[in-house]
Amino acid sequence: MHSGKNNSKKDLIALQKEILRCRLCEHDFGYKPRPVVQGSHNAKIMQISQAPSKTVHETGKPFNDASGKKLVTDWYKISWEDFYSPEKFYIVSMAHCYPGKAPGGGDRRPPKICSQQWLSKEIELVDNKLYIIIGGFAAKLFFPNESFTELVFEDREINNKPAYIMPHPSPLNVKWFKDNPAFAEKRIIKIRDDVNRLLKGAR
Ligand code: SF4
Repeated sequence: MHSGKNNSKKDLIALQKEILRCRLCEHDFGYKPRPVVQGSHNAKIMQISQAPSKTVHETGKPFNDASGKKLVTDWYKISWEDFYSPEKFYIVSMAHCYPGKAPGGGDRRPPKICSQQWLSKEIELVDNKLYIIIGGFAAKLFFPNESFTELVFEDREINNKPAYIMPHPSPLNVKWFKDNPAFAEKRIIKIRDDVNRLLKGAR
């Protein structure tokens, strides 16, 4: 193995340990944060979403909720084993912890500090082939001035690597799916084919 890759592996493992110990938002949350991240330095796909749900906070397992069922079973059409394989998916969020409930319903916005503090370093250390960005907040991080719905239907790049932008698979995201049926009818088929093709060649 190339020494640079060895360094990335060690650096990422050390970084993940630091992330798991992070309590930066404890005061703001009003409870003990539980950072969630998993994956290897050589994961084929780096999937970046918004923030863990309450169920994920309670179990510590990413996408272990209704959103995950839709994402893995209906959209990617892959096994849970493949989804949780560290060499296949690096699963992370722009905020690594559940941010709590917003007063008007739904979850609070992902704290911005987390991506500056951690995600930017993870992106440098993961040697992925494809990015999948999930949800409007995460899309804004990479494409701050662009229309979310247009991004979903475009083939984009991040760090000169292909990137797909997807809506959040949350069961609460009803209106977007109603307004944009082409995602479920057409766009997801292209994304699914690419994901499955990449996973077949996984190291
Ligand atoms: S959301 Fe990020 S910055 Fe805040 S406590 Fe969790 S890991 Fe730390």
